[in-house]
Amino acid sequence: LEFLEDQPGLLVTGAIASLICLVAPIWINAANDYKNRARLLGSLLLVMLVGMAVMGKALISPANIMMLPGIMTFTLAVGWRTGLAYLLAALSIYVGCVVQSPETVGYSVTSSNGTLLRALVGAAIFIFIGATIFRREMVNAAHRLETARKAAEISMAHFRERAATDALTGAANRAAIDQILAAETDRHRETGIPFAVVVFDLDHFKRVNDTFGHLAGDRVLIETVRVVKQALRTSDMLGRIGGEEFVVVLPGVSGQQARLMAERMRKMIAAISIQVDGRGSVSPTASFGVTECDVNASATDLLARADEYLYRAKRGGRNRVEPELCSSDKTVSASRAG
Ligand code: GH3
Ligand code: MG
Ligand code: MG
Repeated sequence: LEFLEDQPGLLVTGAIASLICLVAPIWINAANDYKNRARLLGSLLLVMLVGMAVMGKALISPANIMMLPGIMTFTLAVGWRTGLAYLLAALSIYVGCVVQSPETVGYSVTSSNGTLLRALVGAAIFIFIGATIFRREMVNAAHRLETARKAAEISMAHFRERAATDALTGAANRAAIDQILAAETDRHRETGIPFAVVVFDLDHFKRVNDTFGHLAGDRVLIETVRVVKQALRTSDMLGRIGGEEFVVVLPGVSGQQARLMAERMRKMIAAISIQVDGRGSVSPTASFGVTECDVNASATDLLARADEYLYRAKRGGRNRVEPELCSSDKTVSASRAG
């Protein structure tokens, strides 16, 4: 370190350089912009050439040549903002030397005692190592942050879905159904696009549980949801709103179409047959209540109205749809099916 005693100015310039080195990492951006690096490399060389020309030094000297690979490597490693910051740091050392001891910089930089060269090379090594480590840290931190963000996004989506889903059957839950009913009601008021609500309840389900056991009852619920979903479009929503009571929201569907769809669901449920070990098979049925949207009815009104029809279907003997299809509906149904 004797060269520092020879050149006390180096202490000052070294301190300035250190300060710049401390501030410089703030400028680091983790962007891997190779265009910027190439641009910086060009401008660094230009600055060096101009600087050396202004100082009236020979362009090709061992000191200058040795600086080149250092600056190039450094620039490639750290990106242009940091590169610029450290270039300033190096320049401050250089300028400090010029101010402090012109005779050292006088064209015997390398020949007399090599102070400047040693200072520059030393600074360049420190700067390079520091900047490389810091940049790697930044990139790693950005990477970890991105990974954490993605994981959080996935679990958020997962939670949101869980919060809207009935755990046993995978159908929507009451909260999700209320939400979609409110949305459809609003949409109908604004655009006049119709929708229909179908409510259905499994018949004598208590008997199913009593005869075949609760587990068999659960299997019936699961199978009912699976089968009904097959009859629905992706825009339709099936929800479980009670133990064995379900609701289907059918956007863009008229009351008549909804009754036809309910009839299809009824038949599909009636066709279910679940084998229970040693106890035969369960063949469930369900009763349906159907209602159409109207501008004056709230979501709650619609559900209540559909429920009324559902209980009319129960009283009427179960395994049926209310309001009943009239003969013209059945003709439409037959011609569509045909
Ligand atoms: P109805 O035809 O009038 O609807 O008769 P029901 O027996 O289906 O109606 P009730 O309301 O008397 O009984 C409903 C039964 O549904 C009672 C309850 O044990 C059963 N249940 C409710 N939730 C579940 C469930 O998650 N799993 C099973 N296995 N059974 C359930
Ligand atoms: Mg029931
Ligand atoms: Mg019920």
